[in-house]
Amino acid sequence: MHPNVGFIGWRGMVGSVLLQRIEAENDFAKIEPIFFTTSNIGGNAPSFAKNHTKLLDAYDINALADCKAIITCQGGDYTAEVYTKLRSSGWSGYWIDAASTMRMNEDSIIILDPINRHVIDKGLDNGIKNYIGGNCTVSLMLMGLHGLFKHNLVEWISASTYQAASGAGAANMRELLQQMGSLQHSVADLLSDKHSSILDIDKKVLEMQHSADFPKDNFGVPLAGNLIPWIDKDLGNGQSKEELKGYIECNKILGNSIELGGEGNIVVESQCIRIGALRSHSQALTIKLKQDVSLEDLEKMIAEANPWVKYIPNTKEQSVEKLTPAYVTGTLNVAVGRLRKLAIPNCINVFTVGDQLLWGAAEPLKRMLNILLDSGRI
Ligand code: NAP
Repeated sequence: MHPNVGFIGWRGMVGSVLLQRIEAENDFAKIEPIFFTTSNIGGNAPSFAKNHTKLLDAYDINALADCKAIITCQGGDYTAEVYTKLRSSGWSGYWIDAASTMRMNEDSIIILDPINRHVIDKGLDNGIKNYIGGNCTVSLMLMGLHGLFKHNLVEWISASTYQAASGAGAANMRELLQQMGSLQHSVADLLSDKHSSILDIDKKVLEMQHSADFPKDNFGVPLAGNLIPWIDKDLGNGQSKEELKGYIECNKILGNSIELGGEGNIVVESQCIRIGALRSHSQALTIKLKQDVSLEDLEKMIAEANPWVKYIPNTKEQSVEKLTPAYVTGTLNVAVGRLRKLAIPNCINVFTVGDQLLWGAAEPLKRMLNILLDSGRI
């Protein structure tokens, strides 16, 4: 009999991509999927359902406890509300989660198996039952720079991120498109007249961005024609929570100490910025290497680290075509380019782009399910 695997948050941004990936790899054949909802109890489960064709209540602890593994992409509030109650009921199944809530807990492993399969295997052997997907930007940075970490070359990293609207969820991605449509609509007449004044267009666009009717329920401010230099909570020390994740999660995934100066610790400083890309996160990285390495060797290390890195030669033609969100979206490729040595000793510049919904979210969860299935743990 196939193991019951519960899915929560399957219609959201990450959940939709997760189901798409599980179907593409024919993994539904190995499980009995049970679909839960927080908003449509009794509704029809998605077409991947086998015997359980109706949506169950995602807050029903008994129904959740029937699952050998639960994969949730519902978000941190749901995890905070349900996880402890479920464990208190005596449930001893595997909890696989996309939300950040439990990532730094001692009894959780952050999963990114091409980088830390040894950490995952050790956790499984030690009876750990919680496997949490990492922050999207961190996972993509580790996948892209895998070669530099493998060769223990990284002293510190300074990152500037350019994160897509879909990183904030399905409703936010829709809102960005509504904002774009609204801006275009506000100047459609002027745009159709090629002799109209560009400053008249500019003025009307600005008026629309500032208007009370502009759709901004989710972002709170315009993103179309704009950017937002803050992601996630304000930690009160000048840093956003997203920026802190860059440091602590990177070190936890690598199995390093998260204490400054602790064993293996690598300082990662970030400035995280939401931009008007729809999907796929980009980041510009300044990296201090522990020693001087030739550009040729760096290219080789980066390109050969794992099957998903795509090294893009640092030319204008290749960069503008292949080092962009529009080019990598929907693929498992993590493009790495703009590699050059800086005028600062042992420092390099790198730009990387990857689909945050794949390696940054859904893919590690899907692969964790397979690790459990292949090892006979569920
Ligand atoms: P999301 O798209 O907002 O989906 C979460 C839930 O919101 C859905 O399961 C759905 O629950 C509900 N929902 C409300 N309005 C919706 C709509 N218009 N379309 C679809 N679903 C709607 O969130 P997400 O981006 O997938 O993120 C889920 C978790 O993964 C979060 O903890 C997030 O931090 C984390 N994460 C996200 C990303 C990313 O790139 N987005 C990357 C890594 C980690 P019901 O069906 O029960 O109503």
